[in-house]
Parts: sequence; C-alpha cells; structure tokens
Amino acid sequence: MALIITDECINCDVCEPECPNGAISQGDEIYVIAPDLCTECVGHYETSQCVEVCPVDCIIKDPDHDETEDELRGKYEKLVAEGKTAPTTAG
Ligand code: SF4
Ligand code: SF4
Repeated sequence: MALIITDECINCDVCEPECPNGAISQGDEIYVIAPDLCTECVGHYETSQCVEVCPVDCIIKDPDHDETEDELRGKYEKLVAEGKTAPTTAG
C-alpha cells in the first residue's frame, strides 16, 4: 500500500530527495506523499527509502490505499511507461 506521513512530521526535508518516484512534496503544514506515485519503493529498492531516513518515524502504511506487492509493481511499471520514474533493475 502507499505510505502516508503523520502529523508528527517535523518538516526536515530529509525524505523528499530520497524518493525515487518524486512522490513526496511539502504540503501546507507537513510533507505529503502522493499515493498514485508511491510504490513503497517497489521496482527501485528493497525497503521504503523515506521510512529509512525519517528521523521521527512518522511515515506509515496508509490503510486507505491498500495494495498488494503485485499492484505496487504494476504501479511502478505504469510510472516507467509514463516516464514518471526511471526504470531500474534493482528491487
Ligand atoms: Fe517514495 Fe518509496 Fe517513500 Fe513511497 S516508500 S514515498 S516511493 S520513498
Ligand atoms: Fe517529515 Fe520525516 Fe520527511 Fe522529515 S523525513 S520531512 S519528519 S516525513
């Protein structure tokens, strides 16, 4: 499933450049993740890069965007086809 940033976010900007899909951006109050771009890093990395770097552990799975591994991979392949993320052999 896509991930979501909780209101514990301290706006440190560490996660934004780590996202291979450009899914993270600064919102009105805290950073936000675009669910249509977040693949949980499937296609790029073994682990969610934003979760790895967040100093306050405020990035969690979004129960409103429940997706299987296959669906996440399908989303990744669609993003590659649309030129929205770079193809990679990793992950
Ligand atoms: Fe981006 Fe990966 Fe975090 Fe999703 S899990 S927002 S794809 S860094
Ligand atoms: Fe917010 Fe965590 Fe991203 Fe920092 S790394 S901007 S605290 S979500």
